[in-house]
Amino acid sequence: MNVISQQEALDLLLAEADCLAETETIATEHALGRVLAKELVSPIDVPQFDNSAMDGFAIFAQAGSSLRIAQRIPAGAVPAPLETGTAARIFTGAQIPQGADSVVMQENCTFDDSIVTIEKMPKPGANIRRRGEDISAGSAFLEAGIKLRPQELGIAASVGFASLEVYRKLKVAVFFTGDELVMPGNPLGRGQIYNSNRYSLIGLLNALNCEIHDLGIVRDDLDATVAALEEARKHADLVMTCGGVSVGEEDHVKNAVETIGKLSFWKVAVKPGKPFAFGDLSGIPFIGLPGNPVSAFLSFCLFARPFIMKKQGMKDVNPLALQAAADFEWTGGKRAEWLRSRFANGMVKIHPDQGSASISPLSWAEGLVEIPAGMNVSRGDRVDFFPFSGLFA
Ligand code: AMP
Ligand code: MG
Repeated sequence: MNVISQQEALDLLLAEADCLAETETIATEHALGRVLAKELVSPIDVPQFDNSAMDGFAIFAQAGSSLRIAQRIPAGAVPAPLETGTAARIFTGAQIPQGADSVVMQENCTFDDSIVTIEKMPKPGANIRRRGEDISAGSAFLEAGIKLRPQELGIAASVGFASLEVYRKLKVAVFFTGDELVMPGNPLGRGQIYNSNRYSLIGLLNALNCEIHDLGIVRDDLDATVAALEEARKHADLVMTCGGVSVGEEDHVKNAVETIGKLSFWKVAVKPGKPFAFGDLSGIPFIGLPGNPVSAFLSFCLFARPFIMKKQGMKDVNPLALQAAADFEWTGGKRAEWLRSRFANGMVKIHPDQGSASISPLSWAEGLVEIPAGMNVSRGDRVDFFPFSGLFA
C-alpha cells in the first residue's frame, strides 16, 4: 500500500464520515460543545420592548430642558404613558414609556426628586434599544451543524429555549497496545513506561464530547489484538487504537484489522505521524494512531478530529489557521511537517526539540506550524499557525 498525502488522507476520511442521523433533546445548560441538529428560529423579538440603554430620563425631546419628573421606571416595571411636558426617571433595561422619543443619560442632567434640568439635549432616538433590533421574531439565528459555545447557549436562552436538539454523542471505543505500558498509579517495572497517551487522547476525545469506551491496554499479540478489536466494535461508532501500527514484528494492529476487516490506507506523508491507519471493521470505521506520543496527538488532531466532528454533524471541520511571520528557519522535507510552536507579537517560534517522542515540547507549545512538503522557510516568511484552542474544540 502506498504512502498518501495529508490531503488525500483527509479526503478519504471525510468521505467516510457520514453524519450520525440520531439526535437528542437536552437541557440548554448541558449543551456546551454539542452540535446543534436543527436551525433555531426565534419565537420572540429580542429585546421584547423598546428599553433604555442608560440610567437617566425618558423624555420627548421637543418638550423643553426643564421638566417635572412624573414617574419612576425601574427595570421590570410597566410604565404609564409619558405625560406631556414631563420626564420619567428611567433605568437601564426598563421599558420606554409611550410618548417618549429619547433617553438622556443622568450624567448630562442636574436633578432632584421632582425636577430635571437637561444640560445636553439628546438626539431623537438616543439611548433607546429598539424592539427586535438584536433578534427579530421568526428569524433563523443559529444554523444547524454548529458547535455550541457559551455564547450560543446564551443566545438560545435569550429567546426562551430551555432545551435544544443536538446530535447524539459519537461512541468511540479505544485501546492502547504495548507490552511496555503500565497505568499511572502502579510502579514501573524494568523496560516499562506509563500509558500517557491514554490521558492525552481521552482528553482530546472529551474535548469533542465523545462517549468513550476504554478497553485499556492490549498485549502485543495478534490474537489479543483481534479479540480487542472484536470487542471494541460491539460498543462503538468508531474504533480507535494507539500504537502497534507500523511494520515491526511487534506491531499487530495492521494484521489484526485485516483479519476481521480491511484497511483503506496506513501510511501518510506527514511528520510526525507517518503510520496512521484508516479502515473498516465490518461496517464500523477504524482509526489506528501511532504510539509515539507526539505522533499520536498530532495525527488525532489532523485526521481523527475532523472525522469525528463530521460524524457528529459539524459543518465546518477546518481548524483555525492564523498567518504569522516565522521566527525560525526550516528546510522542508518530503513530508508535510507540523512543528510545536508558540505565537508572540505576530511571530511564531518553534521548540528546538521536534522529536516525535518528546512530550514536553507539546506541553510548551501553544499551537502547531504547518510546513508543506518541500517548502523552505526563511526568517520572516509567512507560515500557517494553528492554535491549539482551534484544534481542541
Ligand atoms: P509503537 O507505535 O507501538 O511502535 O510505539 C512507538 C513508541 O511509542 C514506543 O516508544 C512506545 O513505547 C511508545 N508508546 C506506545 N504507546 C504508548 C502509550 N500509550 N503511551 C506512551 N507511549 C507509548
Ligand atoms: Mg508498540
